[in-house]
Amino acid sequence: MEKTVKTVIIALGSNLGNRLNTINSAIHKIESEVGPIINIADCIETTPFEMESVENFLNSCIEIETKLTAWEVLKKLQKIEIHLGRPEKTKGKNESRTIDLDIIFYDSQVIETTELSIPHKEYHTRGFVLIPLLQIAPNFIDPSKYLTVKQLIN
Ligand code: ADP
Ligand code: MG
Repeated sequence: MEKTVKTVIIALGSNLGNRLNTINSAIHKIESEVGPIINIADCIETTPFEMESVENFLNSCIEIETKLTAWEVLKKLQKIEIHLGRPEKTKGKNESRTIDLDIIFYDSQVIETTELSIPHKEYHTRGFVLIPLLQIAPNFIDPSKYLTVKQLIN
């Protein structure tokens, strides 16, 4: 049976190296390995939040379509992070990173495991996610809060 297509929102961040190049490379890799890009938010520059690093971030969000499961998407994103120069040892250490790829929404699914939490646990507290998210998906409904992105921000 043909697998159904899911809509996925991914947040991208980079504060090390050629940030814009890395974000663009990540988008290309996601397009070829995960699925077609539906929408790309403008990049914004933000100051590090709850981090020791001092380098500013570039942040964006994309909306894509995929036939992969949420876990398959996570594995692909982790592979792309490593390919784009993010050492595995920095995982979860809040250090500067060439690229951080987080799944914000996976269709209307709610997943709560230690390895994968969707909707992303912290996204609604982070301006650097909410600003690009509002641009590309204002009417997306957060399946755990039953509010649209626009309603969450107001
Ligand atoms: P952060 O994104 O908070 O800076 P990391 O990128 O180092 O942290 O990710 C730490 C772990 O978060 C990953 O190993 C992954 O298993 C887990 N994780 C849980 N939920 C998600 C999600 N929605 N998207 C991406 N990673 C997630
Ligand atoms: Mg991450």
